[in-house]
Amino acid sequence: MERKKIWLASPHMGGDEQKFVKEAFDTNWVAPLGPNVDAFEKEMCDFLGINSAAALSSGTAAIHLALIMAGVEYGDEVICQSFTFSGSANPIAYQHASPVFVDSESDSWNMDPDLLEHAIIDRHKKTGRKPKAVIAVHLYGQSADIEKIAGICREHEIFLIEDAAESLGATYNGRKLGTFGDIGILSFNGNKIMTTSGGGMLVSSSEQYAATARFLSTQAREDAPHYEHKHIGYNYRMSNVLAGIGRGQLKVLEDRIKRKREIFEIYTSAFFGVEGVSFQPELSGSCGNRWLTAIVFDPERSGTDREKVRNELLKYNIESRPLWKPMHLQPVFKDSVRYDENISEKLFRNGLCLPSDTKLTDGEVMEIADIIKGMTGQ
Ligand SMILES: *Cc1c(COP(=O)(O)O)cnc(C)c1O
Repeated sequence: MERKKIWLASPHMGGDEQKFVKEAFDTNWVAPLGPNVDAFEKEMCDFLGINSAAALSSGTAAIHLALIMAGVEYGDEVICQSFTFSGSANPIAYQHASPVFVDSESDSWNMDPDLLEHAIIDRHKKTGRKPKAVIAVHLYGQSADIEKIAGICREHEIFLIEDAAESLGATYNGRKLGTFGDIGILSFNGNKIMTTSGGGMLVSSSEQYAATARFLSTQAREDAPHYEHKHIGYNYRMSNVLAGIGRGQLKVLEDRIKRKREIFEIYTSAFFGVEGVSFQPELSGSCGNRWLTAIVFDPERSGTDREKVRNELLKYNIESRPLWKPMHLQPVFKDSVRYDENISEKLFRNGLCLPSDTKLTDGEVMEIADIIKGMTGQ
């Protein structure tokens, strides 16, 4: 019999999701609006400590709308963290703008603030204009040096979009990620720390942005009895059925974060003292949600490498995945401007995301750690 598949991360329902979904059916609110959507937005605002939100069909849609609100259009440049999932960068192209990719720092694996500042100044010098927006990401649930990044954006008067798709519930200096930018974005895709099967949210301390997001995401319909349009709109609103799943998931989010952090602890303890193996660091002052435990092998010192480990785990029907391939190395963005210091490229070559599913038992996590440890010969 084939061994049970072990996933990187998969949906983990809490129990109340179906109750909210049933309410949507019982009241016939099976539409991209309704009481679950309103309540989900309100409950997420309470959780994050922010005052407005718009529930959307995906995190990518949220970034797209954020760029529109930042005024990004044809010919503009947008600075984006290079080390990320393509969903962060693709919406720049939807607006026919040009991405400028900035490398990460090794302390957080996220956008290097000094390199960001250099890029802003250098682009201004070369093009005579400042980039219109910055997209900073908190990878794998780990905070970027976000106060510093926000400070730089304020100083240069550049719109900050905080991509917290992977970092829901994580904090920096006690404040929830997603609340530092002019706009924060969340994702509830299937493998994220909480899911609505697919969905996203735009959050902001400015009610104006959330209101505009609700307007644009429902085809930009003006207030009139007939359908009147002065703007190009989108069909990006979240369904009331899926918002019900989100409300149930939000109730168990703290438990999920706790379990993700425990899984990280089990892995790191197992590799204590093992040469040439390291894990994603946690920036001082931050507390990550450890969405995925990320490990890095030094091929010279660890006795193995990321592809050997990935292929070995596959034999046991265990899923693992190389770290995000930086956007500046992606064929689709080959002509883009980049400020690269070879940090994210090296992490990509040597790093692997390990199964971090909250349904795994301690024993299963230890078993995975043992297989990998065996390959180091240490
Ligand atoms: C998942 C993800 C997104 C996009 O979210 P979707 O809901 O899948 O569209 C954006 N940025 C990052 C870093 C992500 O991991």
